[in-house]
Amino acid sequence: MSSRIDSIKQAQQKAKEGLSSKFKKYLDFAVLDDEGLKQYKPSDGNNFIRILPPADEKAYFGYDIYVHHNIGPSNDAYLCRRRTKEEHPELDIDGTCPICERANVLKNQGMEWEDYKYLIPTTRFIFFVVDYTTAESKAEGPKVFDAPPKINDGFLAVSVNRRNPGDVIDISDPDEGYEVSFTRKGSGIKTQYDGFKLEGKDRVPDDWLDLPFFDEILIIPSDEDMLESMQMEESGTKEPKSTRAQRRERRTTTRTQTTKTEEEEPEEKPTRKRKQVQEPVEEPVEEEEADEIEEETEQPKKASEDLPAISDVVERARRKRRTRE
Ligand SMILES: [Zn+2]
Repeated sequence: MSSRIDSIKQAQQKAKEGLSSKFKKYLDFAVLDDEGLKQYKPSDGNNFIRILPPADEKAYFGYDIYVHHNIGPSNDAYLCRRRTKEEHPELDIDGTCPICERANVLKNQGMEWEDYKYLIPTTRFIFFVVDYTTAESKAEGPKVFDAPPKINDGFLAVSVNRRNPGDVIDISDPDEGYEVSFTRKGSGIKTQYDGFKLEGKDRVPDDWLDLPFFDEILIIPSDEDMLESMQMEESGTKEPKSTRAQRRERRTTTRTQTTKTEEEEPEEKPTRKRKQVQEPVEEPVEEEEADEIEEETEQPKKASEDLPAISDVVERARRKRRTRE
């Protein structure tokens, strides 16, 4: 079996489990690992899940968070402390956000919304679910579902008593709740979720109910982390050392190493050449993030590199930190 096939299998597995923790810097994967909670990600086609009731008995079964995507050259995603604190005032977190401040600076400098909207946080909803699609997936138990608002809308739409639509039902109730189905079509920003339906009443075992509180699985980012990501972007590290020539060289070396029998392709070969021309400036890994953002449709392209300096924002944050210390 070729090594490429192995790589494709790995990529499939990764896509199934969701974005790697490397970029998603708002979920605490250490805590999730401790709790044995993997990420749930819907597949193309029909999906069947059971939403679990959260640890807080009075809380809604989904937890809204606000996330800055695509920050810095690695496209890090951070929790927006400002919006999250606004929606969850009970959280003991600093309600300021250097990324929002940065957006404000650009706005005040007269930049068009289109050009700085990539700095505006988007809404996500966290749910604890069990994947009922197959016996195997069900056996894997509770998982974390980091979902776009459209999913939440779908869950709310089926949270009504169909005989008496004025009545709300708790589909996450451990004894009286329901299995829910929905379909997923497409990928990336064109992902569509629809056909939300209750499949039937379902009672869940007690050992699925020992779940962390939502805020326990979140990472509250520090100013330093966010500013560092933004700084790197500004200093133009988009295209790191690997120049095109180096990459070509590396490609050739890898090819000769793995498939010794294969004839060396001449550099001039048209297909190869075209591929190089079309090569995106950004590293391929960023496409993964692009898919992850999905449905937040409006996620815009980044503004060009010639953004105004953010040193004032950085300096203010440093000063603030000093006073705190
Ligand atoms: Zn923010």
